[in-house]
Parts: sequence; structure tokens; C-alpha cells
Amino acid sequence: MTIFEKIIAKEIPADILYEDDTCLCFQDIAPQAPTHLLVIPKEPIPRIAKATPEHQSLLGHLLLTAQQVAQQQDFAESGYRLVINNGKDGGEEVPHLHIHILAGRQLLWPPG
Ligand code: AMP
Repeated sequence: MTIFEKIIAKEIPADILYEDDTCLCFQDIAPQAPTHLLVIPKEPIPRIAKATPEHQSLLGHLLLTAQQVAQQQDFAESGYRLVINNGKDGGEEVPHLHIHILAGRQLLWPPG
């Protein structure tokens, strides 16, 4: 069981901003920007590479949830970045699909 499954099961605490039947949004424990949130599906899909056409609606819901949280938390206007790290070269550490939401400062490109 990954750390994110433990957060979903409420076995370990997280600062949760949004939750519904299929996903969760919470604060990243090691923020890389003034605002750093994670949106995760409750279904334990290990990474985007493991998603299938059956997940099409769920994947869309995760993106729309990120958009909604950005509006609710008032950084939609100033801007934000959504990131999905996939596999070793992508920098993935937790093998449970998650979308990073980064905001609150001018982000650099290329990301390094
Ligand atoms: P990734 O490198 O894309 O797999 O991102 C994993 C993210 O999970 C990192 O940004 C971590 O800081 C974050 N993280 C790890 N453990 C926790 C936790 N218990 N609560 C919140 N965020 C976490």
C-alpha cells in the first residue's frame, strides 16, 4: 500500500482541500512552490502509463478538479502549473497517479 492509499484511507493525516467519490486534493508535504497541491484518484492507478481507456472519464475529472481547486484557492488568475511525473526519468517517487498543482511564484521553463 502506498502512502497515498493510506491518506485516502485516512490512516495517515493530510491537509485535504477537496474530496469526492473518486478523487482527493491535498497539500504536498514538501512544497516546491508557495502553493503545492496534489490531486489523486482514489483508484490506485500506479502512473499515467498504466491508465487505460476505461479511465478516460476519471482522468478528465482529475484535471477539472485541479481547475476547480485553482479557482477556489484564488490562484486561477495568477496562473499555475500541472505536472505528472511518470517513471524514473520523470522523477516519480510515489507509484500512485497524482497531478501536482504548483502556484504562487513565477515558475521556470524548462523545469530542469
Ligand atoms: P512524485 O515525485 O511526482 O512521485 O511526487 C510525490 C510527491 O508526494 C512529492 O512531491 C512528495 O513531497 C509528496 N508526498 C510524499 N509523501 C507525502 C505525504 N505523506 N503527504 C503529502 N505529500 C506527500
